[in-house]
Amino acid sequence: MHVRSAHRSLLVVGSVALDDIDGPFGLHRDLLGGSASFIARAAAYFTRRVSVVGVIGDDFPRRHVDELAGIGVDISGIERTPGETFHWVGRYAPDLATRETLDTRLGVFADFQPKLHDAHKDAELVLLGNIDPVLQLDVLRQVRSPVLVAADTMNLWIDIKRDDLVKTLAKVGTLMLNDEEARQLAEEHNLRRAAGKILKMGPTSLIIKRGDAGALLFHGGGVFAAPAMPLAEVKDPTGAGDSFAGGLMGYLAYAGDLSPSTIRTAMIMGSVMGSFAVEQFSVDGLRDLTTAKIQQRFDELAELAHFERVHL
Ligand code: AMP
Repeated sequence: MHVRSAHRSLLVVGSVALDDIDGPFGLHRDLLGGSASFIARAAAYFTRRVSVVGVIGDDFPRRHVDELAGIGVDISGIERTPGETFHWVGRYAPDLATRETLDTRLGVFADFQPKLHDAHKDAELVLLGNIDPVLQLDVLRQVRSPVLVAADTMNLWIDIKRDDLVKTLAKVGTLMLNDEEARQLAEEHNLRRAAGKILKMGPTSLIIKRGDAGALLFHGGGVFAAPAMPLAEVKDPTGAGDSFAGGLMGYLAYAGDLSPSTIRTAMIMGSVMGSFAVEQFSVDGLRDLTTAKIQQRFDELAELAHFERVHL
């Protein structure tokens, strides 16, 4: 069951991938992955107005696309072209806290030039999932007047396309990245100071994801902390950040406003969806959720973080 109250449209541009994941639970090959796959699934629980723009190769199983369409996601912007689907190979340390990229095969992404349909150009919320910042900027040149543009990125692009990334950041309202990436981008170890430096690059707000330590939102001189749910079982952290982003943006689309309190709730909803994603491999943890399950975990997080003010 999905919450259906569509206020704002959400355009998701990102990778649709096949992942090989190695780690304490063994090697799993050809799993459905990619930033857009996680984002769209997480967001689709909050609004029916999710559209995905991306590219797949001729090796990509049809059932994954059908499944997205089956949960109401607009897949008309997913292009199938001859060649190999984007393929990412990663290995997690035994504690699942760190990972290394063993291989990134861009495949059909190497020649991808996103061409937005007319309807997609009118998107109100735009979420640029982790892809080449040149493609992210290309998309931003095509959208007409979005209410909010959020973007994610990763160490690879900070390493090899820093100048392009900086150009994209100048046009982004909310940037999301993890703590290591924030340090790398800002060239500053202290996270608070790193946030200050990144906010000078263009975004008006910055979300720093810190895995099982939760996420921080920096905006207008203030900071808000969303906790992560302490889970009894974590199998695969892949896509946690994307599911966080999907939950957050999906909730903003559902709520229809960008007030400070809505944004805080959206941060918690991001944390909720990230927590479901890591409990299983690939997008499995995001399959078959219900409004009741989402609500329950949201309430648990509210309880976890609740404390009373005291006056000393
Ligand atoms: P996350 O764990 O939230 O950082 O996202 C993991 C997903 O990002 C995986 O499913 C990968 O397929 C995808 N991914 C990894 N590297 C890249 C990249 N360089 N560009 C786009 N997507 C990527």
